[in-house]
Amino acid sequence: MIQRPKGTYDVNGIYGKKLLYVEELIEGLMEKYNYEYFRTPIFESSTLFHRGVGETTDIVTKETYDFKDRGDRDVTLRPEGTASIVRSFIENKMYGNRTMPVKAWYYGPMFRYERPQSGRFREFYQFGVEVFGSLDAMSDAEVISIPVNLYKLLGLKGIKVNINSLGDKESREMYREALIEYFKPHINDLCEDCKERFLKNPLRILDCKIDADSDILKNAPKTIDYLNSNSLNHFNKVKKYLEAMNIDYTINTKLVRGLDYYTHTVFEVEASVEGFGSQNVLCGGGRYDNLVETLDGPKTSGVGFAMGIERLMTALDYEAVTLPIIDNIDCYIIPVSENEKDLAIHILQDLRLNGFIADIDYNNRNLKNNFKNADRLNSKFIIIIGEEEKDSGILTIKNNETKEEYKLSHDELIDFLDQNI
Ligand code: ATP
Ligand code: MG
Repeated sequence: MIQRPKGTYDVNGIYGKKLLYVEELIEGLMEKYNYEYFRTPIFESSTLFHRGVGETTDIVTKETYDFKDRGDRDVTLRPEGTASIVRSFIENKMYGNRTMPVKAWYYGPMFRYERPQSGRFREFYQFGVEVFGSLDAMSDAEVISIPVNLYKLLGLKGIKVNINSLGDKESREMYREALIEYFKPHINDLCEDCKERFLKNPLRILDCKIDADSDILKNAPKTIDYLNSNSLNHFNKVKKYLEAMNIDYTINTKLVRGLDYYTHTVFEVEASVEGFGSQNVLCGGGRYDNLVETLDGPKTSGVGFAMGIERLMTALDYEAVTLPIIDNIDCYIIPVSENEKDLAIHILQDLRLNGFIADIDYNNRNLKNNFKNADRLNSKFIIIIGEEEKDSGILTIKNNETKEEYKLSHDELIDFLDQNI
């Protein structure tokens, strides 16, 4: 038997309904925030991610699906959304012909060659946003409010917002020097990866999962102690605006996020329910005021986040949140014999075009089994079409809950259902 690739999963049944509900909610929310839908290719030139995500990140060094296409081009299945959206922003020259900010949202599959485990897949879906061309801290706060409001709308309760600031280029540089000073005497006590990070990008040591609990990491200098006045001012405004939106947050000075491009605000939202598991970060993001330039665009600020959909679905299950999904149908049609199938399918077509959820017996069941099937489908009404109904044009409609029967012409049917569903 051919099996699906390791680290991937199939969607069907009730999970599919829940997933579609969440996806529609996201779409509706983005409409209310007045964000623009972006869609970019699933594969891009490899250099986009190498430069955009950062050569020293785990994503690029260990996790990308890279291959050569038949034209000998180096392409990569996208591991995240931001680099592609920035590429698209630049390539479509949105910096020139749009009113700023450009507020983009996206949703789709991402690919990372990781060790599959709970909450960690090789193909997974992300919903994310990117806001270009606003330096205002209102944008940082707005971006943080999106996942918070989505979780609120869904009814998730155990969530925690962690924020931190890396500051502007100058502050980041000062902090970097302090980190080098601090880690120098401890370098031999860190993991192999961290030894390399020390040379290439010491900030990333703070993001290490292996050394996370060591005292060396716990006592490391804090980003917020190295913020210059411009950076501190920005961070204070973000906090003020979050408070104005009634969003609770915690300042987590160890939060640096895994990507190289962040400046100023970084944040994560975690499922803070005991026992949820180690993959409890539901979404993360921050400000990246230099990324557009790094990818050859004009200097344009950006701020965004990305959210894993699978972890969100797990959180919903974990908190036993009931979603208002439809698991019933309006009408089940039973053609009694072969002769009535043309009228039955004609009515079926009419019902569906009038907005009703309708289905039919495709398997020539006897009446008893058809009633069972109507129950299995949770049908509100049953329409039985036999010889008599076909000849007279008067249909028999049965309310499957009250068991009451009605005799109606085809013309009266739609009005009747409109009033009774
Ligand atoms: P982690 O620390 O868990 O590896 P990350 O820092 O690599 O996460 P980001 O690149 O910031 O994650 O992606 C944002 C979100 O996407 C994560 O918070 C998570 O919800 C989701 N995500 C990331 N990688 C995976 C994966 N392999 N499978 C499922 N979801 C993922
Ligand atoms: Mg990761």
